[in-house]
Amino acid sequence: MNCGLLGQTLRHSYSPQIHNSLGDYSYSLFEVEPAGLEDFLKNGNFDGLNITIPYKKAVVPYCNKLSSIAKKLNSVNTLVRQSDGSLLGHNTDYFGFLSTVQKTGLSVSGKKVLVLGSGGASVTAVAVLQELNADVITISRSGKNNYTNLHLHADASLIVNATPVGMYPDTSASPLSLETFPHLEGVIDLIYNPARTALLQQAERRGIVAENGLYMLVAQAKESAEWFTGQKISNAKIKEIYKQLSNQMENIVLIGMPGSGKSTIGMLLAQIANKEFIDADAYLEKKFAETIPNIFAKYGEEHFRNLETQVIADLAKRSGLVIATGGGCVTRPENYSLLHQNGKIIWIKRDISVLATDGRPLSSSGNLQAMYEKRQPLYEKFSDFSVCNDDFAEETAQNILSHLHKEEI
Ligand code: NAP
Repeated sequence: MNCGLLGQTLRHSYSPQIHNSLGDYSYSLFEVEPAGLEDFLKNGNFDGLNITIPYKKAVVPYCNKLSSIAKKLNSVNTLVRQSDGSLLGHNTDYFGFLSTVQKTGLSVSGKKVLVLGSGGASVTAVAVLQELNADVITISRSGKNNYTNLHLHADASLIVNATPVGMYPDTSASPLSLETFPHLEGVIDLIYNPARTALLQQAERRGIVAENGLYMLVAQAKESAEWFTGQKISNAKIKEIYKQLSNQMENIVLIGMPGSGKSTIGMLLAQIANKEFIDADAYLEKKFAETIPNIFAKYGEEHFRNLETQVIADLAKRSGLVIATGGGCVTRPENYSLLHQNGKIIWIKRDISVLATDGRPLSSSGNLQAMYEKRQPLYEKFSDFSVCNDDFAEETAQNILSHLHKEEI
């Protein structure tokens, strides 16, 4: 079977990887300009298609038959070529979003839910939430309910972000502040790059549910695969693929005192986990064409910390990296959200009597014990967990990976 994803401009897509894990069919990317859409749908070499921006509505008139959900949403993201050549249209985003709400464990019945944005994903989320008996309000920049009268909805229990605000590369943006929603139980952001948008990080700080869009992406693909092949696939497969993709996309960020072994362990981790290794200090020296001791000597620590935050902002919005940070990156609180957006942060602990100090301006000039006492609570605060590096770097790297893989979804 030939299946694939149809869109106008397809940048990096996880869909081929997801579908390769779901069924025994080929899955290609089809970039088609609007003028070529009709010809492609009539004569293209495909048995099944997923449809993405901007064609989910445009393909509807070409469907000979629509599922009830596709008809209701007037939007198709899955097309199946029937044996007589006709096209059947369905929408699996509905199942994807429903599965995501179910994953959060939140009950929305009778509660107010705000859905931000009024595009295709919003229409799907609204339909699912209405089916679950929620009191759904769409917040649109141009609607009656908009970002200037959010105070009317301070009783909201759940907020769903169905706008692209906060998506890579503009990851510092957030569609709204959660401060004015005291009854909020959770936030679902349909964005999955970054894994923890600025909006989701606000929810995490409140200690409420914070769910991104990756589960929806995998769940909608699972249902599409069922339509392509006509065979039922267990929902356990969604969890399995979701976990694998989350691990693959996650950055592993190492923090700890200068000389604690972050680079050595980081290189080993990258090798074992098949990720790219980046030493943030080496990256900084290359980017600014100056050694760190020279930057300290010429411009002082404050200037260096500014450059370091710029480098962290660049690196941490990427996915699938192992990043060894400079020992003092924890002294800037803003570095936390940057590193956390896509990363698990691990504190490498090492006895300070054996820390390497060569070429490290702060370690070699001052009192390491005083530096450690100042930074220790910051390492604690930044890190998801810590490991001890007692000269067995390989063992430490393995410990980190088994800890990461143990984590439940
Ligand atoms: P869309 O049709 O372009 O709609 C996005 C809506 O967001 C717009 O209609 C607009 O609503 C609002 N919006 C756009 N730019 C904005 C801005 N700068 N500030 C505030 N609001 C803005 O896109 P879509 O297909 O619905 O996708 C929306 C988001 O969901 C995207 O991030 C997409 O990646 C994600 N998504 C994820 C999945 C998944 O499987 N996880 C599936 C589908 C979509 P108003 O004009 O009414 O404000």
